[in-house]
Amino acid sequence: MVSASSCDSVAPSLRAAQPCLWTSPHHPAEAPAATAAVVDAAAMHAAAARFERFAPLLAELFPELQASGGQLTAPLVPAHALGAALGLGPGQGALWVQCDHLLPVAGSIKARGGIHEVLEHAETRALERGLIAPGGDYRPLATPAARAVLRRYQVAVGSTGNLGLSIGVMAAALGFRAVVHMSADAKDWKKERLRLRGVEVVEHAGDYEQAVAAGRALAQQDPMCHFVDDERSLSLLQGYSAAAPALARSLAAAGITVDATHPLFVYLPCGVGGAPAGIAWGLRQVLGPYVHCFFAEPVQAPCFLVQMLAAPGTHPSVRDWGLTNQTEADGLAVPRASLLAAELMRPLLAGVYTVQDETLFQHLALAHDVAGLRIEPSAAAGFSGPGMLTGTPQGRAWLRTQGLDAHLPRATHIAWTTGGLFVPESEYARFLHRGRAQPPAASA
Ligand SMILES: *Cc1c(COP(=O)(O)O)cnc(C)c1O
Repeated sequence: MVSASSCDSVAPSLRAAQPCLWTSPHHPAEAPAATAAVVDAAAMHAAAARFERFAPLLAELFPELQASGGQLTAPLVPAHALGAALGLGPGQGALWVQCDHLLPVAGSIKARGGIHEVLEHAETRALERGLIAPGGDYRPLATPAARAVLRRYQVAVGSTGNLGLSIGVMAAALGFRAVVHMSADAKDWKKERLRLRGVEVVEHAGDYEQAVAAGRALAQQDPMCHFVDDERSLSLLQGYSAAAPALARSLAAAGITVDATHPLFVYLPCGVGGAPAGIAWGLRQVLGPYVHCFFAEPVQAPCFLVQMLAAPGTHPSVRDWGLTNQTEADGLAVPRASLLAAELMRPLLAGVYTVQDETLFQHLALAHDVAGLRIEPSAAAGFSGPGMLTGTPQGRAWLRTQGLDAHLPRATHIAWTTGGLFVPESEYARFLHRGRAQPPAASA
């Protein structure tokens, strides 16, 4: 009943490709911590431990990881001035940015899920073939002999770009044959970067869904091929969830409290839904019901919102709502959500909002000019979150019904910037120019 009425309220905007905020009828405090058995706390900690086991090897394979000892980490930084520029008033909490746009090797949030899945696959194969011993040193995997063994296996993936970058670069670095199926909307520089690393790039005329389907079909015919399935993979979700204990450490180090009177709002750009779902799920485990996650999607590609509004057992596409799936936010250009991610999130998600491409560019420029952050358009989707929550009637109504408005002055807002490190200078200059051409709208 409740969800039907909240569907009615966003439906006209959704259909008209206008920005909107949908809030979940579920109260997160009522949701059981572990709603689905697909990932559990043990899996989250296992992923974190796997990254630790591989760290010495990764430090050897990637010069850029030497300083961190092979850790794939990105900082949580304060962004109060940017918060004010985005319309967050003095009594409405503080804005912070989780800078996954700086994640090394992949240059995006895909470093968490995508790289985890490649490492898990490498570990399984290498243990099977006796290249490493359980609990032992993984650095022998860098030797030519070990790489020659892994060379017989293929790792494949279908991607709009960033997942392909993370999987392709890591798989090739470990010696695997790597094949990335790219959709037509994937950026040329991403294809170039992969080819330079020895990754085979297969271009598909259609969109993301078709690239994934084609890659999946080809991989099924080859027993030596592991296909990383963005729509169904547990290993990806598990890798993303490992961001949660890391964020909890960053929050503690920054002296940020998260409890009943200090709510945390997290704004996560959403494509197929795996990355934000893995992270949101992990945060619920680690920080309890005081963290409220909102997913951010382009107005023309709101697949997760469409799935949240859908009748049980159905799997609609954004095209069913008359939308095009066309957006400059290539990391978010996905017509149909992951059902795995959607089911995991249904009881836990606070809400979903949509953003116009022009706003993405304006916020990309603002993030650069006010906070010195260099991000890609997809990664700017989180920055509409504070305005959507505190500056719209829907957002304020939700805060009231959740009893959160009284705690807003002590709230923390985290915009998760999901990519950008490897965007070429010329491309980035074009983004900035486009974002500066129009001043940001007053709110949202
Ligand atoms: C992939 C990606 C996302 C979203 O991840 P999904 O798992 O597809 O939801 C967000 N931002 C960027 C930059 C990405 O590459």
